[in-house]
Amino acid sequence: MTAALEEMACQICLSPLNTLGTPPTYVHPIQLATDGHQPAPVPVSQLDTVNRHCDFCGDPHPTWTLVGGEVTAIALGSAAGLVQNLGQAWATCATCQTYIDDDRTEKVVDRAVQAFGLGDHPQVRERIEELHQAFLTARRPGRTLITTTAWPATAITARELPRVRDRIARFYRGTDSLPTALANAETRQEVAAGLDRAGLFWIDDDFTDLTEYAAEKPPDVTINRDLMPSTDGLIVWSRPVTPRQITAASWTTTSDGWRLTNYRTIGGALDGTPLQRLREQVGWLAPMSTLRVRDQHLLQGEDPAAALVATWLLVAQQAANVTTARVDKAVRKSYARTNRTTPEVRIVRIGVNRGTRPSPERSASGDPGRPQSSRFWVSGHWRNQPYGPGRALRRPVYISPFLKGPDDVPIKLSTTVRMLSSHSPKSKDQN
Ligand SMILES: [Zn+2]
Ligand SMILES: [Zn+2]
Repeated sequence: MTAALEEMACQICLSPLNTLGTPPTYVHPIQLATDGHQPAPVPVSQLDTVNRHCDFCGDPHPTWTLVGGEVTAIALGSAAGLVQNLGQAWATCATCQTYIDDDRTEKVVDRAVQAFGLGDHPQVRERIEELHQAFLTARRPGRTLITTTAWPATAITARELPRVRDRIARFYRGTDSLPTALANAETRQEVAAGLDRAGLFWIDDDFTDLTEYAAEKPPDVTINRDLMPSTDGLIVWSRPVTPRQITAASWTTTSDGWRLTNYRTIGGALDGTPLQRLREQVGWLAPMSTLRVRDQHLLQGEDPAAALVATWLLVAQQAANVTTARVDKAVRKSYARTNRTTPEVRIVRIGVNRGTRPSPERSASGDPGRPQSSRFWVSGHWRNQPYGPGRALRRPVYISPFLKGPDDVPIKLSTTVRMLSSHSPKSKDQN
């Protein structure tokens, strides 16, 4: 692959594709075991998730892209075949990056030898080392964060939110690069400044479930300031939501509208020094996609920002009970030292008036004969409702989601027990 060609990945298996010949034909990497499907090339910039591996050791959670020497060797070793991506841009995992930064590249070779099951044969070792050196000695300064890696989820607590926010804001202001959509320095400064001002919202488990349901068939929404619970903000859900697996989203007020950005958590598979460094240098979040919208922009339901917009709408329609979380003493002190006001974290829960209607089971909850071990959501639907001066404006409102089951048992997120009901929960479930 040369720098002039945009990198492509297969839309079916999300694997990066290699090129053959001119004009290029896109092929799956030789070592990749597919189900036999033909490659379906799309530019990687269109994908939230790409199944990349560390080009040094094969680790499935690559973290950085480095640019180095153009490596022409594509295969070495036995028939099992270690195949390296052609080209001068290599993905590294956080562990290999740590060894590279510490000048312990022999450890990177160890990892490659081990991972590819090539046996510690001196000749194999030597060849791998040559390959790595060919790349690393010509390495150019800088690195780019890989934002498409499907990390296992990391839970972020409400208390951690100020630190999580500060870290990603600092990363935006730092020198490590980001892929195309957020490559622009001005954009990065803009988002960082918005994060400094951001209202912080932590969405609890149940409200996250509600968001997930509500975002399943999201409505088209006209974007305006009234929708948002604060001028700038950062929302963190208790777990990844939607098939995109978004864990956080920010909105930033700009000169002519807003910038909406989705995030995933990173580092979930790491521990020790590589994890420490990642937390220190990047933090907990990596931006996945970003979108600029103007006032009165009609956002389509399928937009990547749908989960954020659904959460705004649910909060705006008072489905939420919003309380302020206590902030750690350490955080308060560190803010005081730098003359910043103590950050406020707002916790978003299901409102008392909505979604928790007493159900018939509740009266029997003291009866050990008929225990019900969980509650579940019966999903609602979106409807446009008038609001504002003279009720002239329209805004989608999520109608009639409700919980079935006793109040004192956990709520279960399950699509299998979910009922799509056309009749009102009132007539059915109120005592
Ligand atoms: Zn494929
Ligand atoms: Zn690696």
